[in-house]
Amino acid sequence: MTKTQKDDRAAWAARAEALRPQGQALIGGRFVEAASGRSFAALSPIDGRVLTQVAAGDAEDADRAVKSARAAFESGVWAKRPPRARKRTLIRFAELIRAHREELALLETLDMGKPIAMSLAVDVRAAADAIQWSAEAIDKLYDEIAPTEPNVLALIRREPLGVVAAVTPWNFPMIMAAWKIGPALALGNSVILKPAEQSSLTAIRLGGLALEAGIPEGVFNVLPGFGHEAGKALGLHMDVDGAFFTGSTEVGRMFARYSADSNLKKIGLELGGKSPFVVLASSRHLDAAAQSVVDGIFFNQGEMCTASSRLIAEDSIREELMEKVLEKARAYKPGDPLDPETNLGTLVDAAHTRRVLDYIASGEAEGARLALGGGRPAGLSGECYVEPTVFDQARPEMKIAREEIFGPVLTVLAAKDPEEALRLANDSSYGLGAAVWSDDLTTAHRFAAGLRAGVVSVNAYDEDDMTTPFGGYKQSGWGRDKSLHAFEKYAELKTIWMRLR
Ligand code: NAP
Ligand code: MG
Repeated sequence: MTKTQKDDRAAWAARAEALRPQGQALIGGRFVEAASGRSFAALSPIDGRVLTQVAAGDAEDADRAVKSARAAFESGVWAKRPPRARKRTLIRFAELIRAHREELALLETLDMGKPIAMSLAVDVRAAADAIQWSAEAIDKLYDEIAPTEPNVLALIRREPLGVVAAVTPWNFPMIMAAWKIGPALALGNSVILKPAEQSSLTAIRLGGLALEAGIPEGVFNVLPGFGHEAGKALGLHMDVDGAFFTGSTEVGRMFARYSADSNLKKIGLELGGKSPFVVLASSRHLDAAAQSVVDGIFFNQGEMCTASSRLIAEDSIREELMEKVLEKARAYKPGDPLDPETNLGTLVDAAHTRRVLDYIASGEAEGARLALGGGRPAGLSGECYVEPTVFDQARPEMKIAREEIFGPVLTVLAAKDPEEALRLANDSSYGLGAAVWSDDLTTAHRFAAGLRAGVVSVNAYDEDDMTTPFGGYKQSGWGRDKSLHAFEKYAELKTIWMRLR
């Protein structure tokens, strides 16, 4: 290691020592403890250290947050501001996020273990950009006048839902929040953000920055707490107009039930995936394909809903491709997330690490060939490191080929021809991401049309831009984040008929 790298790592560690993360809820513009007085420890997966105590919000706190959000909404202090005024405030919010990039990146890395270089280059940047993009869109969206007969005027207006809950996961805590709160706030809703218990710290800090940016009290609330308490209370609350969730398919189902069992609130679900990455013999770019699938599964420790977790390779190129995949996978090395050179950090916590290791054990037990990794790396002291792992010669019925592992584990399946590859690709209860590699335009086009997934890449993977919708087919969810389509979730459409006399 060169001297500067060492200094950088030491510098981040020193900054980490000096950090005093805030753990309170933000309700009605004030940072408060949970009404019950209960809290839980925010643990760092890097070394198990307690970063701070976090307020364990429950139904009573959820109710307080909903009341303050409702009052702010009814007052019109935000909802009735001209769109361009909300735009200016939200752009200030995005700029404050950028101004606090190092602090936010450090909180994210300490709290959930992703490499500091990723937190800076991806998480903070994309969160700020998502909020700015939604803000910039809001004074360019026009409502409609319907082409009715001349003696009537039918206005089709987009109106904010009212009180919106956003319940988010721990893998990209700031980005998943920004994809929801950006369009929801831009439209004039009041929002309650419930972050995952493993990653509450950046959400709480975002709450402070939102206040500083001038978002009025009660318009943006942050309610940390456990899913089965705070999350459930928001899902079941009779005065929440919409609940928008990103997380597991299992909890997504609960939100569908919460809605049915309460006020039929609107819901949005961005759920899990087991995304197929298909390489056909008609691709001459096996090097690029190998790099792309490896980045797609090992980026963010594989804790990614669109992770390219199933590689499906046509028989005639499979061996050549596998050599390249293994060579490129070796470039991912578990290391201290505070080291700017690290490209594979820790998993989010010890329980999740055990779950991932259990999946690896099941792959071995079911007879897949372990081609790389398969355990905890030597020489690192924390509990939450897992080696980049590749299973070759898997069969479609194996657990590692069907279930979302949400860790750095790639499962490779063989297909005898493109038809079998497409059948295998679609043989999943999920439908989030998918890729096909082929230099034959007709094949690629037909394949892309045949893939049952919300985000399909041809000769690429995980292209990411705020201008395109993101979300899943099948059990990967309902509705889309990002792009102008995301605004549809947070608005009601009202038709106003006027008879002209
Ligand atoms: P999770 O367990 O489903 O949790 C997500 C959120 O729901 C957390 O805030 C969680 O709070 C809360 N929650 C848990 N149980 C709840 C309940 N009974 N009622 C209400 N809320 C509840 O998911 P995760 O483990 O954080 O994240 C991993 C999952 O997210 C993966 O399946 C992944 O594919 C998915 N994901 C999807 C996307 C996408 O856009 N499609 C993006 C990222 C992640 P607690 O943390 O306190 O339990
Ligand atoms: Mg969880």
